[in-house]
Amino acid sequence: MPTTADPRDPSRAVLEDGQLIVLGGREFRVAVSGRRRSLGLTVERDGSLVLRAPQGCDAQRAETFLREGEAWLADKLRLRDDHPPAHPVREFREGETFAYLGRAYRLRIGGEGQTAVRLVAGRMVIDEGLARDPAAARRALVGWYRGTGQRWAQGRLQPWAARMEVREPDVVVRDVGNRWGTYRSGDGTRGTMALHWALFQLPAHLVDYVIAHELAHIRIPGHGGDYWALLRQAIPECKERKGELDDLGRRLWLGDIRHKP
Ligand SMILES: [Zn+2]
Repeated sequence: MPTTADPRDPSRAVLEDGQLIVLGGREFRVAVSGRRRSLGLTVERDGSLVLRAPQGCDAQRAETFLREGEAWLADKLRLRDDHPPAHPVREFREGETFAYLGRAYRLRIGGEGQTAVRLVAGRMVIDEGLARDPAAARRALVGWYRGTGQRWAQGRLQPWAARMEVREPDVVVRDVGNRWGTYRSGDGTRGTMALHWALFQLPAHLVDYVIAHELAHIRIPGHGGDYWALLRQAIPECKERKGELDDLGRRLWLGDIRHKP
C-alpha cells in the first residue's frame, strides 16, 4: 500500500491523514487523530470505509489490523445490504409529522408567530410564508432543532458529568456528519461536545446515551474494553441503547425535503 516514509527511519512507513488504502478489493480512507491510541474501522452512512489511526501509525500495523478485521467487516457490510438505511423525505404540508424527543408532532402551517418554528399544543407550527419556501423552511426547522436541542442537552449535562466524574464540556448542536456526537478535548480548558441536530428526534434516553457516550471519552478515547466498562457504570444497559440507536438512527429524518413541482 502507498505510504509515507518515517523521516527518522526511512524503512518504516507511516500512515498519513486522508491517504487511501486499497486492500482486498476495498478502499479505506485514513483519518489520523492525535487523540487516538488504537486503530478503529468505521462504515460511514454513505457506505465508505474509514480507518481511524493514531499519529505516526505504522503502515504494517494498519495492514495487519485490516486483514484481521476482514470477517467482521464483511459481516457488517452484508447486514447493511440486507437492511439499507431508509432516511425519510419530508414535505412542508399540513399534517406531515416531525419528531422531537421521541414524540411525533403534526405540522400546522400557521400565521406569523413569535418565532418561525414553534411547538404549540402538541403541534409543530411553522409560519405560512416560510412553508412556501421549502429550503428556507428546512433551514428554520434545523435551526429550531439546534437551538431547542442545545438547551435540552445543556440541562442534562451537569447530572451526567457529575455521575461520571468529568468536567462539563461546552456543547454545540450541529450537523456532525456521519456520527451522532463527537468530543474534542480542550487542551487544558473545557473540551467541546458536538451533538447532531437530528438526534433530538429520538427518545430522551437515546440522546442521554449519546451524551454519556461522549462524556466517557473525556476519560477514555477509543472504544476498548475499559471504555465500555466505564460507560456501563453510568448506563448499565449501554449496549442495548447502542443497538436501539443504530436501529432507529437508520430511519431518522436527516433533513431531506421534497420540493413540490
Ligand atoms: Zn465513541
